[in-house]
Amino acid sequence: MGSVLVAYVNVDKCIGCGKCTGSCVNNAIQVFQGKAVVIDFNCLGCFYCVAAAACPKQAIETKPRFSYFSEEEKLRVQASFLIKQINIIKGKLKKI
Ligand code: SF4
Ligand code: SF4
Repeated sequence: MGSVLVAYVNVDKCIGCGKCTGSCVNNAIQVFQGKAVVIDFNCLGCFYCVAAAACPKQAIETKPRFSYFSEEEKLRVQASFLIKQINIIKGKLKKI
């Protein structure tokens, strides 16, 4: 079975500038605790972020989907999701 490539951020190169986040067509890149992370299952594998040269450090690379998550990356993905959910709830509460 062939693997599908998706984007991922090389944390050793990433300086957390956030320039990449707006380049993603599916809101799959977020910055958390000073490093960008690609939400693996949101990534379409279109590589627009790479083609647009969004990263000044060339930190956005490719990997097979779900191939490998370090413990740090797992935590950052989970935390960024929680923060996103909290912000959505905050936004809804403001409208009440
Ligand atoms: S490959 Fe496409 S969907 Fe994935 S992070 Fe880059 S722009 Fe977003
Ligand atoms: S543009 Fe590059 S260096 Fe800046 S946050 Fe994104 S991946 Fe990191």
